[in-house]
Amino acid sequence: MATECLFREDSYLKSCEARVLALTEQGGVVLDRTVFYATSGGQPGDSGTLTTSAGVTVPVATAVYTDAAKSEIAHVPAPNAPALKVGDAVTATVDWDKRYARMRMHTALHLLSAALPYAVTGGSVGEAESRLDFDIPEAGLDKDEITAKVNAMIAGNAAVSARWISDAELASNPGLVKTMSVKPPMGTGRVRLIEIAGLDLQPCGGTHVRSVGEIGKVQVTQIEKKGKLNRRVRIALV
Ligand SMILES: [Zn+2]
Repeated sequence: MATECLFREDSYLKSCEARVLALTEQGGVVLDRTVFYATSGGQPGDSGTLTTSAGVTVPVATAVYTDAAKSEIAHVPAPNAPALKVGDAVTATVDWDKRYARMRMHTALHLLSAALPYAVTGGSVGEAESRLDFDIPEAGLDKDEITAKVNAMIAGNAAVSARWISDAELASNPGLVKTMSVKPPMGTGRVRLIEIAGLDLQPCGGTHVRSVGEIGKVQVTQIEKKGKLNRRVRIALV
């Protein structure tokens, strides 16, 4: 059963009214609509709460997709949470501070990929620290130089916008895909493109801030060698 993913159109929604459509075998709660981002593309699923009209609150540890097409989301209750029933009306609310930190971090990773124009082989978004792995044959990356480059982009406060293109349009523009390990979800007929005006354009399903000034200052904290061709670059919000 499809979940309407409200976070794709508006990543600033902190809560929504929803109805329980189904319960998965693992105890996950499937809603008709949600503001919870589900684990994908290196960004963890949101935590938060589902509260019934009777005032029962179910803490949610994370959210995950139940299908490869990423059409249905299960909200995973914390251990020993009260049970919900199909048909229950709930208010779904994300842990906003954590989510907003991830939005800032995720957007900062787009800028990092613009500052280091190499193929990305992996990545991970966290509240405290995030990383991208780059396919770069030689070392010689300078932490301070990259930090200065990214912070200069942030100071420009470029707008971040999303639009959808067809699978066919993406297939005819393979240069748009920077991440080799995480292929954009294709097969549904359309792909979401994230544009940071003048700086970056790539398919992405994650949650971002509206303008890069919201990221605040970042710092490259570590550059590690991961195999012959890989360099792992870690950043933190400062
Ligand atoms: Zn993104």
